[in-house]
Amino acid sequence: MKFYNTLTRKKELFKPVKKGQVGMYTCGPTVYDFAHIGNFRSYVFDDLLRRWLKYRNFKVNQVMNITDIDDKTIKGSIKEGISLKEYTKKYEKAFFEDLDTLNIERAEVYPEATKHVKGMVELVQKLVDNGHTYESKGTIYFRISSFKDYGKLARIKVEDLKAGARVCQDEYEKENASDFALWKAWDENDGDVFWETNIGKGRPGWHIECSAMSMKYLGETFDIHTGGVDLIFPHHTNEICQAEGATGKKFVNYWLHNEHLIVEGKKMSKSLGNFYTLRDILEKGYKPMAIRYELLVTHYRQKLNFSFKSLKAAENSIGRLQDLIIKLKSANGKTTAVKKLIENTQNKFEDAMDDDLNISIALASLFDFVRDTNKLLLEGKISKKNAKDVLDFLKKIDSVLGIIDFEEQDVPKEVQELAEKREQARKNKNFAEADKLRDEITKKDYIIEDTNQGPRLKKK
Ligand SMILES: [Zn+2]
Repeated sequence: MKFYNTLTRKKELFKPVKKGQVGMYTCGPTVYDFAHIGNFRSYVFDDLLRRWLKYRNFKVNQVMNITDIDDKTIKGSIKEGISLKEYTKKYEKAFFEDLDTLNIERAEVYPEATKHVKGMVELVQKLVDNGHTYESKGTIYFRISSFKDYGKLARIKVEDLKAGARVCQDEYEKENASDFALWKAWDENDGDVFWETNIGKGRPGWHIECSAMSMKYLGETFDIHTGGVDLIFPHHTNEICQAEGATGKKFVNYWLHNEHLIVEGKKMSKSLGNFYTLRDILEKGYKPMAIRYELLVTHYRQKLNFSFKSLKAAENSIGRLQDLIIKLKSANGKTTAVKKLIENTQNKFEDAMDDDLNISIALASLFDFVRDTNKLLLEGKISKKNAKDVLDFLKKIDSVLGIIDFEEQDVPKEVQELAEKREQARKNKNFAEADKLRDEITKKDYIIEDTNQGPRLKKK
């Protein structure tokens, strides 16, 4: 199994610290708003990665932080005039609902930053003791010139940076690389949010949260750290120097970063009107599994161009899989040697996924298999036993993809007939009749969807 490691800019053979186990840290949400589809591209990628590791029999220990304190959450809570906890709880709850909607498996641990301030203070204290910091007006900064290879992950050179420049806010651009705040002294902008500690009255910076919580749950050196490419600098760059500056050990062996999501070819932004939360897309009537498929289908290191056209295509792809499941359940044909077909598909799928999660090739092999199986079904060459083997195989594959509903039921004959009559009425441009038939179908608890490949019936 190989992964592309941002640290070395190479695909590397994956070797965990402990045989058979994987410690994995994922930068989680800052709970100041509903998460947008770009965020979910990251979380779907993380989900695919953890599912693939589990498929390959690793015991996965995934930690995803919940940032419930930073510049943005404090600002938001003060604006709304409610406590920080009250403010963040709402978005945290929404985040977990969204994960379930997209069939994203739960990580093993979701530490909240506000519950781990003690560990962060201890980590800052170690950095103070090791001579990596200085203080200014109660705020403790990390002196980046004190850390050899500061820019190794982002490939920036410390010599290019302005000596002595410092930044207090959590987010800033590469051009402003400078000493950054580990611990922020309280000021009036923080309202009633502060901790009284031996390093002063204040609150942690965003970057220290991840270094402290990842090492607490995964140890000083662990296997995989993931996140979007926008986190390489400054967040992950700072995580490395905070951790390694304190322990003197290598922090993370494999850094995996997913590319951005763009919408209809453009950067997603509120000003362009192409900014979508997951909830916005659901409101437009798209199915969760189609959204998951759309977020999954592009290799994680390529930009994903989200569009409503491709979302429609995703619905069709899911439809093809669901149609096959239904047909297999009633298959009763002659016996064919499907084992060989299954084996070939499985090999292609596994080789592709082992190669840095090459999802495009993996999915292509799956849809070739769907086509071949459909052909055999049409020729009456799938027996009950064959159908069971195929279904078992699809279940195995879907433990990785998480897109198939194996419980979906076949459509009753009378509903099928109503749908055919409606289609006929539509062809004859008798739309009043078509609408009447649609209502009858709805009364029988089915909905009819018009797709590029014709109408599809679904249970309500
Ligand atoms: Zn982080």
